[in-house]
Amino acid sequence: MALRKVVTKEDPILRKKSRPVEKFDEKLAQLLDDMKETMYASDGVGLAAVQVGMLRRIVVMDCGEDYIELVNPEIIEQEGQQFADEGCLSIPGEYYETIRPATVKVKAQNREGQWCVYKGEGLKARCFCHEIDHLDGILFIDRLNPNPQPKEDVLNAE
Ligand code: ZN
Repeated sequence: MALRKVVTKEDPILRKKSRPVEKFDEKLAQLLDDMKETMYASDGVGLAAVQVGMLRRIVVMDCGEDYIELVNPEIIEQEGQQFADEGCLSIPGEYYETIRPATVKVKAQNREGQWCVYKGEGLKARCFCHEIDHLDGILFIDRLNPNPQPKEDVLNAE
């Protein structure tokens, strides 16, 4: 395994659309292993391949419950709304209140190419949306709440 460099928002690659993964081979496994190591080393809860300079539809995540690998992920259901501060490894030190669905259902392939369905609420739903947005060149600063609440209210709502 190897650490990869995380690109920051000045890099135009973050605005590009990632391509689907078609080959479930050793190269994909290597990239997933590297992304996992890079995410944990950066104290992130999620990382998309584009953030390490690879325009592939791949995400790794760990919101504290379990480690998840998503290849070619798609949001197939979403419900409700939630508001909370969000950050991004590619936009270090900046945290703003964003709007996300309260719950989402995601389908994705694993490193062997098998399709699985994942459900998330709270931080996990937020993370699924944030990372899958990266695959389409969308950053969390595109999803800011135009009317952010005073910080006390946000804390009470958590
Ligand atoms: Zn991000």
